[in-house]
Amino acid sequence: MAELGNPKNTIEILQKYQFHFSKKYGQNFLIDTRVLDKIIRAADITKEDYVLEIGPGIGTLTQYLAEAAKQVIAVEIDNKLIPILQDTLSAYDNVTILHEDILKVDLNQLVQQRCEGKSLKVVANLPYYITTPIIMGLFENHVPIQSITVMVQKEVADRMQTGPGSKDYGALSLAIQYYAEPYIVANVPPNCFMPRPNVGSAVIRLTLHEKPPVEVIDEKLMFDCIRASFNQRRKTLINGLNNSPDIHISKQLITEAVENLQKGTSIRGEALTLEEFAKLSNYIAERRMQE
Ligand code: SAM
Repeated sequence: MAELGNPKNTIEILQKYQFHFSKKYGQNFLIDTRVLDKIIRAADITKEDYVLEIGPGIGTLTQYLAEAAKQVIAVEIDNKLIPILQDTLSAYDNVTILHEDILKVDLNQLVQQRCEGKSLKVVANLPYYITTPIIMGLFENHVPIQSITVMVQKEVADRMQTGPGSKDYGALSLAIQYYAEPYIVANVPPNCFMPRPNVGSAVIRLTLHEKPPVEVIDEKLMFDCIRASFNQRRKTLINGLNNSPDIHISKQLITEAVENLQKGTSIRGEALTLEEFAKLSNYIAERRMQE
């Protein structure tokens, strides 16, 4: 099978199957072998590794992964791509193609059934419309993962690395800090894809922490507080938490927890660090345990 990482072979396959790109699935296929090599190197794949690829497209990155890994599980939503993948990956006996929506797959079960108890390396050129739910889902469901090496929008890669004081700071930045160490591997211009996206892209590697950098009594509570704060960025932290439909905490307890931070009661959530969100939610969790 011809190597897909160049435009000529990709066009041939697209024509053979009369494939039309689907915007709703965020289809921008990689057509640059140097970028593909960089992704594989950054993901540090060996013949011991089980790899999950999200959105294999026509199988371009999958071919590189199959060469490097022990097993590759590739989850693709678009039924028109399944026969193409069966063709382009026919030379590999270590690839499993699953025709599923990644947001609906029980990945913990998948790892148990197919990975001999080993944790996964996730590698993908992600569909940009669902980058955040995919990454948050991997973290919050505690899927056993060593690292996540993914192509994302440049702007999202920046958001993943930023702290208080930046307009890009948000729930995603805090989740990344809590669960992983981010590293931007490369910036990737639109001409490395077919069709060209109208935004810049970047490859980012997230290496999961063995232990989070802060101690949190109730992770769900902390992330509920974080989301509530950033859903209403312009409000004070007290009002943001108090107005949230997802948090059921009395205004008095919220006020006490905010006072305990010693940053004033008019502070906004967007000014808080991860340590401060941990302190805030731990205060609430401890008080609840005393009740
Ligand atoms: N990996 C290929 C490449 O690099 O050339 C394609 C990457 S393309 C940016 C994103 C891929 O994700 C597409 O193949 C698209 O159909 C697939 N996709 C979109 N939404 C998905 C979902 N919810 N679950 C699984 N795959 C999805």
